[in-house]
Amino acid sequence: MTSPLPRVPVFDGHNDTLLRRVINRGTDKDTSFFERSEHGHIDLPRAIEGGLAGGLFAMFVPSDLDQDFTKPFNPNDPKNYAPIGQSEALGFTMKMAAEAYRLERASGGKMKICRNAGEIEDCIETGTLAVSLHIEGAEAIDTDFEALEVLHGAGLRSLGPVWSRKNAFAEGVPMHFPASPDIGDGLSDAGVALVRACNDLGIVIDLSHLNEKGFWDVARTSSHPLVASHSNAHAICPNARNLTDRQLDAIRESGGLVGLNFHVAFLREDGRHTRDTPLDTLIRHLDHLVEKLGEDGVALGSDFDGCMTPKAVADASCLPALVEAMTAAGFGTELVSNITHRNWLRLMRHTQM
Ligand code: ZN
Repeated sequence: MTSPLPRVPVFDGHNDTLLRRVINRGTDKDTSFFERSEHGHIDLPRAIEGGLAGGLFAMFVPSDLDQDFTKPFNPNDPKNYAPIGQSEALGFTMKMAAEAYRLERASGGKMKICRNAGEIEDCIETGTLAVSLHIEGAEAIDTDFEALEVLHGAGLRSLGPVWSRKNAFAEGVPMHFPASPDIGDGLSDAGVALVRACNDLGIVIDLSHLNEKGFWDVARTSSHPLVASHSNAHAICPNARNLTDRQLDAIRESGGLVGLNFHVAFLREDGRHTRDTPLDTLIRHLDHLVEKLGEDGVALGSDFDGCMTPKAVADASCLPALVEAMTAAGFGTELVSNITHRNWLRLMRHTQM
């Protein structure tokens, strides 16, 4: 069924499509990116159908690479938080970066790894899927930043120093509910040096997955606007992964942004894992984020291919339903454009060299 809704371009702040594709290799979910599939959330046909114009494609290294990835992620299994060594993490990151490059080459010009906001804008105009490479949890980066240098050369333009798992740079925030994000220590000395190195290279520092002390350490250290690529409002859903109003105030002051995460357990007031979560819940977070951050500070960070989404946004082809819900809630055309793509572009223009 083709939807009559206009295709507002969406530049989305977070997906785990590269990881999903690498772990699905050799399984019955090993589908072509260029054919419509029912597996996962993103492939090129569904991106085009939903107006997904591009986004930050995360490279995340799971702790347990031998686990059965056909089973849903268990946030309570300590094996999922075991530390991972640098060379192992770098090796697995290469698989995900290589997947991005192979897809770009196989796409015949329909997908492009972008290095700055101008390239992303060109892609949006020409209908080319814009890929910006992101690292989620910097285990792959050595403390001399040589891997950082090379990955930057390969197109890395944003990085979260830590996932919800302690590493050389920071502690990370557990996905506890209900809980304050003020759990554990902040950045290590190496973490402070990583923030400075990313500032120098024009790599966006991502605050999603940092605990509260780490957040304030980045706020003190970074010379760039503060960004949380895929986090929600703690005032509505008190998961430790979400942002308190004080944190939102600091992001606003810095001229930064927050991307709305579609994961039901980070959206719902009761923190439950159920796909029966109405679009209105996403709108409530957007309303709160706009109130706290202003119209220039709110964007999307779906977490597609890495989370459990509400049924109404079952995959990338459903993005027009969210756009329609924003319009129905009284968000004007300007605000919808800001949230769906303009704010990410502005942020990247400002941060990246
Ligand atoms: Zn994440």
